[in-house]
Amino acid sequence: MPRGPYILRSGKFQGKAIESLMFSAKGYKFLCGLARMQETESNSRFLQRIRRLLELGESPVIKSQCRCGRPAVSIRIKREEGDIGFGELYCATCQGDSFGGHEQVPLKFSSLRRFDFVLDQKSFLRHLKQVCGLECRERMTAQKAHDFFYAPREEARIRQPQLPF
Ligand SMILES: [Zn+2]
Repeated sequence: MPRGPYILRSGKFQGKAIESLMFSAKGYKFLCGLARMQETESNSRFLQRIRRLLELGESPVIKSQCRCGRPAVSIRIKREEGDIGFGELYCATCQGDSFGGHEQVPLKFSSLRRFDFVLDQKSFLRHLKQVCGLECRERMTAQKAHDFFYAPREEARIRQPQLPF
């Protein structure tokens, strides 16, 4: 597990942590481009780290639940006159029962690709952050973004408010 965020030293996102870039549509696209690069001796560790990060983005720890009480895995969206509205959350069981002309989007980072417009991508990221227990407008600093992906999974699931003693 990496000990801290990976800060890019060059390029258009110079000075940014790759972990923070996951929380921006442009940044995510950039990372996907990097992940497809030809692996060489000098970049292989870097590329492995990017690929691992994208992989972790496929199974974020979701804190929100479906109305039946199971953990949510997707969110309902409604496309209307160029606008996209976000609705109910579904667990793996309920989402299959509720197909009825509406679209469900998996709660994971690669779902960003399902949205063509920046506003919708931003809106999806806000929802994704919320279901993961973050504030929708929370600024994802390098450390915060790193901890989001690399916090021990079990601990993240049972994290409780600290008692004062
Ligand atoms: Zn359910």
